[in-house]
Amino acid sequence: MAITKPSSRILRTPDDLSSAGLIEKRRAGALEDVARRFAVAVTPDMAELIDRTDRRDPIARQFVPDVAELTEMQGELADPIGDEAHSPVKGIVHRYPDRVLLKPLHACPVYCRFCFRREMVGPGKDLLSAAELDAALAYIRSHREIWEVILTGGDPLMLSARRLGAIMAALARVDHVAVVRIHTRVPVAEPTRVTAALVRALKSDKAVYVAIHCNHARELTAAARRACRMLADAGIPLLSQTVLLKGVNDDAETLETLLRTLVANRIKPYYLHHPDKARGTARFRTTVARGQALMRRLRGRVSGLCQPSYVLDLPGGYGKVPIGPCHVAASDAQDALVIEDYKGRRRIYREDGAS
Ligand SMILES: *Cc1c(COP(=O)(O)O)cnc(C)c1O
Ligand code: SF4
Repeated sequence: MAITKPSSRILRTPDDLSSAGLIEKRRAGALEDVARRFAVAVTPDMAELIDRTDRRDPIARQFVPDVAELTEMQGELADPIGDEAHSPVKGIVHRYPDRVLLKPLHACPVYCRFCFRREMVGPGKDLLSAAELDAALAYIRSHREIWEVILTGGDPLMLSARRLGAIMAALARVDHVAVVRIHTRVPVAEPTRVTAALVRALKSDKAVYVAIHCNHARELTAAARRACRMLADAGIPLLSQTVLLKGVNDDAETLETLLRTLVANRIKPYYLHHPDKARGTARFRTTVARGQALMRRLRGRVSGLCQPSYVLDLPGGYGKVPIGPCHVAASDAQDALVIEDYKGRRRIYREDGAS
């Protein structure tokens, strides 16, 4: 399957990173083992964003490998959300009755150090062959309960416009599929891939949604905003998903700026993901209590349009669950609930007349 030609300037090795000034030369050797284990790629757009003088730069933290990735914590898994157990045919994950993931390829524009699919993605990992893609599409056609197809991977916007258009056309011919959703980091990480031809390839009689993976307001550069605008102007509703990452966006100001910037660019925040327990990713994980405290801060302070659902994908393939915060406290009194308002004050709500 054809992938559009990547820019030759993508940084893919510790030596590349050191030449670009993103790591000290003496660290390059130690990172070889990491790079052999987990794919590395930093696009020119993301490399340019990194402040070389800031040792804690939130963009560098997401993409520049670290020797800590070789340390595995108890409970970390190769397949942290249990996709394999729900894969009836290659390229399909069917966990919930009404929707499937379709993964046509395993390449991404960048390789995020916290990625939950880090052991499945990478430049050497296989694409679906034409026969495998046909089998995956046949599965979708033969399961009438499938209402939505979610293209993910890897990153589906790494496909050429021609290949993507062929998949979209095949899905458009399936009567019971109403919605096609595309999860992508391309508009942020490699916005030049969003061409007029690629946008045209997304056109469909089905409802098409694009969910953009973005973790920090700085990722929404002028070029990224332009790419998002091309998609939105084509009538495609845009959603965002953000991973709550320690040292990247786990403070109220950073999160608030990100969510406001997304909405101001016509991107509706959809999910804030608690990080998955992928191998070697402990340095990114904060506690659920901290995530809930951040969500509490946002409620009331920030427009409702900016509020994502805070979710955890349960290890083992049990699905995504909203993890609060819950504003309804238990109450002893009958027909009365104790509810916290946005300032954290407790109010009684009586369910008079309700049954
Ligand atoms: C995340 C996910 C979905 C999509 O879930 P939504 O809550 O609809 O966004 C579907 N299938 C699988 C296997 C998933 O991991
Ligand atoms: S773009 Fe998505 S799938 Fe690819 S490495 Fe980053 S988080 Fe993982």
